[in-house]
Amino acid sequence: SIGTSRPGKPRVLALANQKGGVGKTTTAINLGTALAATGEKVLVLDLDPQGNASTGLGVDRKSRRISTYHVLAGDSDLAAAIVPTAVPRLHLAPSTLDLLGVELEIANERNRAHRLRLAIDALGVRSVLDGDPFTYVLIDCPPSLNLLTINALAASDAVLVPLQCEFFALEGLSQLLTTVEQVRSSLNPRLSIHGVVLTMFDPRNNLSGQVVADVREFMGTKVYETVIPRNVRVSEAPSHGKPVLLYDLKCAGSQAYLKLASEIIQRERSLRAA
Ligand code: ADP
Ligand code: MG
Repeated sequence: SIGTSRPGKPRVLALANQKGGVGKTTTAINLGTALAATGEKVLVLDLDPQGNASTGLGVDRKSRRISTYHVLAGDSDLAAAIVPTAVPRLHLAPSTLDLLGVELEIANERNRAHRLRLAIDALGVRSVLDGDPFTYVLIDCPPSLNLLTINALAASDAVLVPLQCEFFALEGLSQLLTTVEQVRSSLNPRLSIHGVVLTMFDPRNNLSGQVVADVREFMGTKVYETVIPRNVRVSEAPSHGKPVLLYDLKCAGSQAYLKLASEIIQRERSLRAA
């Protein structure tokens, strides 16, 4: 399977956008599920104190004994936080509201921006739960460019940016790109932009089409061909604690996430060939 730049290590992708409600968590859950369905072994790492990825994957608060908070605080290694989900080959490192305070707790530590990278590196070959090492880690970032997101960017090979098809889609994008550039030059030289995924596309809304055109003009081939449609099944699935692919495999949302997964794997192959 895939592990392009670092043999034996997973590809680490951060789902980042400091705007809330753009589809980061939905994409982490459903892209993760789609990648697992194609045979990849995937870890979704919930780095948002809200814990929506954990809830959406059916891991309730009571079952989050060890969370990404404990990992960042230095109280646990990552392997101990990982739990299985209802999806074969898809595992979760859950989050809890404790994460809200971790930024202050580690503010004076010299390695405060590298704690997640160190935890993922230490996972290494010990990422063997049911046999195989992880091939992908998807980090669901909080809606902020805070120390949690910096930790995610410092730990990642590449950033995947969900953008909602709405009027202000591009607003804030340059700030995110600047942050990525700063992390690349100071903390993590291998960081790149994997791609931009347009979410919640509504074909009945002329504006949606215009936004797609504008974002493609601004970001060029970085924008994935796959556009995720607005689909009520996608928004219903989390309340059942399921990825939409388990909730309704045939719906347009599930099919779009499967297509996105194959596009991402394709992009990984051409990166590896380059
Ligand atoms: P973020 O993590 O960026 O804050 P979410 O993934 O939580 O964003 O999405 C915000 C809201 O939009 C959620 O209620 C989610 O269910 C809904 N949503 C996301 N993607 C879709 C979609 N393709 N179709 C319909 N609703 C969606
Ligand atoms: Mg979220």
